[in-house]
Amino acid sequence: MSSAGSRNAQRRSGPELDSCVRCGSCKAHCPSYRQEGTEGASARGRAVLLKQFLEGTLEPSALLDERIFTCILCGACNKLCPLGIDVTGAVYEGRRRLSAFNRRRKLLGFGMEFVLKRPSFSFRALQFLEGLNEVFPLHRIKPFGTLRQMGITVPDSGLREGESLFRVSRPKGRVAVFAGCTSNFLYPHLGKALIRSLNALRYEVVLPKGEVCCGAPLMGLGLTEDAAELAERNLHVFRRLKVEAVVGLCPTCVHFIKSEYRKLGGDGLGNALDVAQFFAGERLPEDSSTQGHRTASRIVYHDPCHSLNYLGVRAEPRQILRDRGIAVSEVERGCCGFGGAFRVLYPELSGSILEERREAYRSADMIVTSCPNCILQLRSGLKDKEVKHLIEIIEEGVKGNRHERGRQAGKQS
Ligand code: SF4
Ligand code: SF4
Repeated sequence: MSSAGSRNAQRRSGPELDSCVRCGSCKAHCPSYRQEGTEGASARGRAVLLKQFLEGTLEPSALLDERIFTCILCGACNKLCPLGIDVTGAVYEGRRRLSAFNRRRKLLGFGMEFVLKRPSFSFRALQFLEGLNEVFPLHRIKPFGTLRQMGITVPDSGLREGESLFRVSRPKGRVAVFAGCTSNFLYPHLGKALIRSLNALRYEVVLPKGEVCCGAPLMGLGLTEDAAELAERNLHVFRRLKVEAVVGLCPTCVHFIKSEYRKLGGDGLGNALDVAQFFAGERLPEDSSTQGHRTASRIVYHDPCHSLNYLGVRAEPRQILRDRGIAVSEVERGCCGFGGAFRVLYPELSGSILEERREAYRSADMIVTSCPNCILQLRSGLKDKEVKHLIEIIEEGVKGNRHERGRQAGKQS
């Protein structure tokens, strides 16, 4: 992607919105429609509004702005549309044109842009500010208040400190990790679990220097050109690596670096895979450590929207869990209501979408998922449940197996 390309970043969407026949199939799993119950808050309603707005027959207004920004960008509509219409592509383009319309969001966008383009500096600043929180009531400022409400604390160190290579003897391959902001700065233990699991399968692991946010939060705010700038930086970092795969802990990041970057006018990373996709293709050692999970009465797998609707991942995590001896209980699936900035801008709507999950998962003892942002959201609303990332289950298995092999070797000697 050239810098001219990033300056002119505009999305190319699939078939035009005027091929929409208004059948309404896209409404079936639209989270905002399920809560609001009005046509304007549904995928079909948005497709109609966007067609008029993008053609110039509908003027921007506060109501239009709200309709387009209360979409959580889950992608369910794209998956369900029989004509393959890229509704979310049109939502992104609508947001790009509406981005300056709302002052509160403009301010949030400015803050996020600053933070996401300078990840290491921002992380240190966040640590510093958290220390100050006792003196200054920072939680009264909305983004800080949201972090506090969600029970998020900033760890002592992030996952990456410059470039790192984690070697193994007789490697069978080399893979790179795209950590993503949430794992990198809030849940570094997930990144460490991924590295240990890959090493246990004899993969060398590269954590390249210079990864920045995938750009999804900025795209979601309509800051397409800023997202394209981040895409350019990530592509520069990851394209030079000679690796078999780029494995991500967050399906939103994986979807972005693989597919959305192409729509921003560049190339995607064709070898990007999420954890479930990568490990489903591996022969994991037989597990010997998940007895606790096997006997737990009810475990559900929460499908992250971007994993299910964009990456097409459904069977893989269930297969991995089954192979670990874990029986998955199936319940009606649904969005967790996080949506990045959506959680800050529309806390009530986000909360009512989460409430639906609380009801669906009422009788579960443990929820496993493969998205760190879903974990943040589910933990904030389902405080009585254990919520784990799939990589933690995978790591328990390979770790347990290592210990088991060690014990057997000890017995034999
Ligand atoms: S499913 Fe597709 S064709 Fe039907 S209303 Fe939605 S966008 Fe239009
Ligand atoms: S992306 Fe999700 S929330 Fe947005 S219109 Fe489509 S189904 Fe509804």
